[in-house]
Amino acid sequence: MTSPVPQPGDAGSTLAPAALGQPASTPAVAGSDAVMTTYSRQDIVFACGEGCWLTSTTGERYLDIGSGVAVNALGHAHPKLIAALTEQAAKLWHTSNLYRVEGQERVAERLVAETFADRVFFCNSGAEACEGAIKTARRYHFSKGRPERNRIITFSGAFHGRTLATLAAAGNAKYLEGFGPDAGGFDHVPFGDHAALETAISDETAAIMIEPVQGEGGVRVVPDQCLKGLRDLCDQHGLLLILDEVQTGIGRTGRLFAHEWAGISPDIMAVAKGLGGGFPVGAILATEDAASGMTPGTHGSTFGGNPLAMAVADAVLDIATGKAFLTSVEAKALRFKQSLAALHDEFPETISEVRGRGLLIGLKLATEVQPAELVKAALEEKLLMVGAADNVVRLLPPLTIGGDEIAEAVARLTRAIRRIARKTP
Ligand SMILES: *Cc1c(COP(=O)(O)O)cnc(C)c1O
Repeated sequence: MTSPVPQPGDAGSTLAPAALGQPASTPAVAGSDAVMTTYSRQDIVFACGEGCWLTSTTGERYLDIGSGVAVNALGHAHPKLIAALTEQAAKLWHTSNLYRVEGQERVAERLVAETFADRVFFCNSGAEACEGAIKTARRYHFSKGRPERNRIITFSGAFHGRTLATLAAAGNAKYLEGFGPDAGGFDHVPFGDHAALETAISDETAAIMIEPVQGEGGVRVVPDQCLKGLRDLCDQHGLLLILDEVQTGIGRTGRLFAHEWAGISPDIMAVAKGLGGGFPVGAILATEDAASGMTPGTHGSTFGGNPLAMAVADAVLDIATGKAFLTSVEAKALRFKQSLAALHDEFPETISEVRGRGLLIGLKLATEVQPAELVKAALEEKLLMVGAADNVVRLLPPLTIGGDEIAEAVARLTRAIRRIARKTP
């Protein structure tokens, strides 16, 4: 690591005492009071990164197998992404969607060439992509003269973002509490309950929306057979299938998109996270028919598909669409999972299951172990992981992770598990 690391107390440092490793005045929340306290953050500030490694402002190196929650798909400071961004930054940042955007047309055409889709709309985040996907589905039926078909079926444990509609879509009471009336139009079905799903379909159903692997929900994989079944069900009832591939897309599972494993395609798909490799960008992908209601004036975005985002997304696709690259993800995932299976055998009282697809891996912990405990113990071993629901800790390393780094991650994870295993009776 050659870049200079700012030290605590550097002139111009705006870090609060808590961020500098000193006791905070309010112990519950680390960092500056000026930042709204919606996160209980780890008390670390990162100054720079390279590949799978992050260096804190106190000069400590961390192995990052969380990738900022599946965002840094190509690791930190990838030279090709830096080049794409800086080259574009010197030319043009923003013009608005009142004009044609060259990069948008290029990235859209590439996504169309690589997927089921015929049409792409660019936005800035996963929630926006999901919300836009919902709008696209409702508008489809409206434009076909069936405005009453506006309800979307979703699944327990889902996560589609933090806007009012995407929260209502997921139906997680914890995230909805105190935010007023729920946005309507969603029917929630227990994950994996086929009978309940069939019962939920009515004359008002517009679409079924699902993540091929629930990420926040605890790395719960939807079996290929079920995705096929959902496709058939949608076809039988004239419904649209919306896939939320915000977390599973852009090579995360060893295919460009996770649904490819099942040999099916959706009508509409939400994409974000890895697509910008760290630059905010989202996209709604749709077939020509599914997008047919989205006529001029029906949807828009000020920032969506801006030249900077498109330059980076184009560079991400250069790498992530490579066959050899995707095959390497599969090989790495296999290697990782074999080591984790051994860890499972060694610590059955701590790890109850290893699951996931590709490099979206979940460690389900024994009931008496909290994900936060393992995340904290891993942090002490300078290993970054991410918690999830269903008592799961997520491992989602940069897809560029090397074999040595996988071995190092497993070694650190083993030490972290020993730390907490010692504490459990
Ligand atoms: C992260 C995520 C979202 C929300 O993305 P934001 O960019 O945070 O709005 C939606 N769906 C899935 C599956 C996600 O993992």
